[in-house]
Amino acid sequence: MNDSRVQLRSAISALPSYVPGARIPVGASAYKVSSNENPYPPLPSVVSVIADAANDINRYPDMSNADISEAVARFLNDTASEAGLAKGEWTSEHVAFGTGSVALLGHILQLVVEPGDEVVFPWRSFEAYPILTSVAGGTSVQVPLAAHGRLDLDAMREAMTERTRAVLVCTPNNPTGPAITHTEALDFVQSVPSNVLVVLDEAYLEFVRMDDALDALAILAGFPNVVVLRTFSKAYGLAGLRVGYAVARPRLASALRATATPFGINLIAQHAVVASLAARDELLARVDTLVSERERMITGLREQGWDVPQSQGNFVWLDLGERTTAIAAQCTARGLLVRPFAGEGIRASVGEPEATDLLLELSQGWV
Ligand SMILES: *Cc1c(COP(=O)(O)O)cnc(C)c1O
Repeated sequence: MNDSRVQLRSAISALPSYVPGARIPVGASAYKVSSNENPYPPLPSVVSVIADAANDINRYPDMSNADISEAVARFLNDTASEAGLAKGEWTSEHVAFGTGSVALLGHILQLVVEPGDEVVFPWRSFEAYPILTSVAGGTSVQVPLAAHGRLDLDAMREAMTERTRAVLVCTPNNPTGPAITHTEALDFVQSVPSNVLVVLDEAYLEFVRMDDALDALAILAGFPNVVVLRTFSKAYGLAGLRVGYAVARPRLASALRATATPFGINLIAQHAVVASLAARDELLARVDTLVSERERMITGLREQGWDVPQSQGNFVWLDLGERTTAIAAQCTARGLLVRPFAGEGIRASVGEPEATDLLLELSQGWV
C-alpha cells in the first residue's frame, strides 16, 4: 500500500486502548466505584505538605528520588519479616520509582523483552498487561484463570517457552480478587527458570487478609529474578499523584532507574509520599475499614445467592456474562459507576457505605 502517512509500528496500531473507569458527569452525583480508588479524601497532614510543596514547583524535583527512596527503604526494613533480608539490609539500591506502578511495569518489560519475546500473564487480569507487552514489542501469552477467578499457576508454568522473558503475577488479581498464598508463590517462583523475570504485582497488598499471605520480600531475598511492584495509588490514596515503586535486587533496580523517565516523580508527589509513609498508621486504619466494607459487600452478595470470589483487594467481582453491559448501564442510571468487562462481569470497588447499600439493593434484582 502506498501510504504517505507516518508509519506506526504494527504493534502500536493494533493496541487495544486502556479503558478508564467511568467518570462522574459534571453536575451529576454518583458513587464512583469504577477505578479501585480510595474513597477517602487525603489526610489533612498530607494535604498540608502538598500545599507547602506547591511553593517550590518552579524547581525540578530531585531526579534521584533520594528522600522517597530512603523513606521506602525504611518502610521495607520496618515491615520485613524474618524470612527475607535482615532488618536494615533493604536500601535505596533496592528501590526504583515510576509514575504509577503501571509505568514501572512498562519500564520493566523494556528491560527484558526483545521483539517477539513472550510475556506470560493470567487473563482476565490487569488490562494494562497486554498493552504494555505490545508496546515493549513482546507477544502476550494469556493464561485463562481457574475457577472462582483464581490464577492458574500450573497453566502459567506450562505456558512458558524458550521465548518467555517475563511472567506477570497479579496478586490479588484485578479484577476478580483472589490472591495466591505464599506457599503457592514460592513453589511457582522455584519452578520458573532463573533467566525469566517474575513480576509480583502487589498493587492491593495492604488489603490482603488471609492465612499464608504472600511475603514477597522474602521471595525476593531468595530469587534474583523477582521484581515486586507496589503503588501509592490504592491503599495510600494518592492515585492522582502517580507514584509506584519496584523492589528488586540492586542490579535490576539500577537498570530500572536507568530506564525511568527523567524527573518523572514530580516534586509534589515526592513530598506526599514521605508524608504518607509517616502517616502510615492512620492510613492503614482506613484500609481496615475498607476491608470490613469489602466483607460486607461479599457477605451481602453471597446471601443473595451470588457466587462471589473471595476478593483480597478493594473491589469485588460479579460474573454476569452476557448481561454485563446492560447491568452496568442500569447501575449508571442509578448513580453507581462500576467497571464493566463486556461479556464477562462487573468490578465494583469498595467505596462509601452508601455505595455498598446501593450495589446490594441493585444486585438483588439481578439474581
Ligand atoms: C491499579 C493497579 C496498578 C497500578 O496503579 P498505578 O496507579 O499505576 O500505580 C498496578 N497493578 C494493578 C493490578 C492495579 O490494579
